[in-house]
Amino acid sequence: MIRLRFAPSPTGHLHIGGLRTALFSWLYARHHQGAFIFRLEDTDRNRLVEEAETGLIRMLEWAGLDLDEGPGVGGDHGPYRQSERLERYHATAQQLVAQGDAYPCFCSPERLEQVKTAQRERGETPRYDQHCRHLDPADVQQQLDAGTPHVIRMKVPDIPETLVLDDLIRGKVAIETTQTEDQVLIKGDGFPTYHLAVVVDDHAMGITHVVRGEEWLPSFPKHLLLYRYLGWTPPQFAHLPLILNADRTKLSKRQGAVAVEDFEAAGYLPEALVNFVALLGWSPDDDQELFPLPELIERFDWSRVNKSGAVFDRDKLNWMNQQYLQQLEPDDLFARARPFLQQTRFADRPEEQLQRVVASVQNRLVTLQDLEAQLVPFFDERPPSTDPDVQAVLAPETAQQVLSAFIALLEPEPALDGARLGQLAKQVQKQTGIKGKDLWMPLRAAITQEVQGPDLHLLVDLFGKDKCLRLLQQAQH
Ligand code: GLU
Repeated sequence: MIRLRFAPSPTGHLHIGGLRTALFSWLYARHHQGAFIFRLEDTDRNRLVEEAETGLIRMLEWAGLDLDEGPGVGGDHGPYRQSERLERYHATAQQLVAQGDAYPCFCSPERLEQVKTAQRERGETPRYDQHCRHLDPADVQQQLDAGTPHVIRMKVPDIPETLVLDDLIRGKVAIETTQTEDQVLIKGDGFPTYHLAVVVDDHAMGITHVVRGEEWLPSFPKHLLLYRYLGWTPPQFAHLPLILNADRTKLSKRQGAVAVEDFEAAGYLPEALVNFVALLGWSPDDDQELFPLPELIERFDWSRVNKSGAVFDRDKLNWMNQQYLQQLEPDDLFARARPFLQQTRFADRPEEQLQRVVASVQNRLVTLQDLEAQLVPFFDERPPSTDPDVQAVLAPETAQQVLSAFIALLEPEPALDGARLGQLAKQVQKQTGIKGKDLWMPLRAAITQEVQGPDLHLLVDLFGKDKCLRLLQQAQH
């Protein structure tokens, strides 16, 4: 059975890159009716961030990527946390030592530093000099018995060789073992390094495909060696391309939000963000751009993932969000708008009014955060417009004729709403002979104070007679 995992380290928020790794893994798992599991790689105790685990899982849920085992799923499995699996790593490390593929290293941090400094001075790549690899076994035993602090390192083969990875995205990638040092497997604090833990767990959890960022590509020789020493079959690997800013530098906070939570707060819909992220590296064989999740599952394939960097185009994300917002049913739109409305100063307006207004601005929203600005014309008192376009509509003699005639008809009316507006406008047309755009644009410009503004009839419903009258009079010369 196909099994993929998302294995973040709890060092902060879920980033766009992490979401993409999770998404591609999830898509592939779902495409093949396989499993998608969550594993927290929390072995670097210095970089732990409290609450990171909860945040990571919440954002996966928000994005619609469901987990098969682990938190929130029930059953006996998970959440898998590496910090709770130390015994396995120790047992494996001991096995490697017993086989002669790993060894205890007693070098102090000071000594390691000296070695590296000397190497740098000689113009060499700094790496462990294998000092403890050649200790006398009796000496080693003595130090172990005495409880001397130590780490466990894996041995890189004495005879250099070329290790080849058949990557699902990059094809064959070769790296010489001489590029690799005797990697620490168990650290001084008793926790495993990523390299040991990832191999032990991917094997134990039956992972068939490892999907990760290309920054891990140089590490594959260490992992392949461990698989060989342990007699296990390695999974398949897919190293994803970098995500780049518009200027083709590596995606960074400095050029805008990168945390998924920030996109949620900024009013992006999960389905739009997910669709957008799917296209960061993957592309279909036609020029379709909008893919609901079920279609992505159907069409996703490694063969169409590009190995060169993928540019994060914020304009395209905005466009996509707009498309998804426009497709929402009114009730759904309102449900999603609610938390954003709550943050605006219009939160306490009657629900029925809010519903109508939100529906009427649906096509004008790029993100849900735009709601506040879009609601202003409906609910705020605004100073008379100085917009030259508005002035231009109100300037002609015919426009002023329309206003005067309309005002004269409106004054004796008991009230005004959108429906009555239409009837009165018809009468103005009869009296003045002015019709169409020349009739409606002055009314619109006077009442909405914009030329392509919000829904005029809805605005009239909300404003009522007195406010409309005032606005019409204000527009007279
Ligand atoms: N814990 C690693 C990270 O957060 C995971 C790499 C992997 O998926 O193997 O980058």
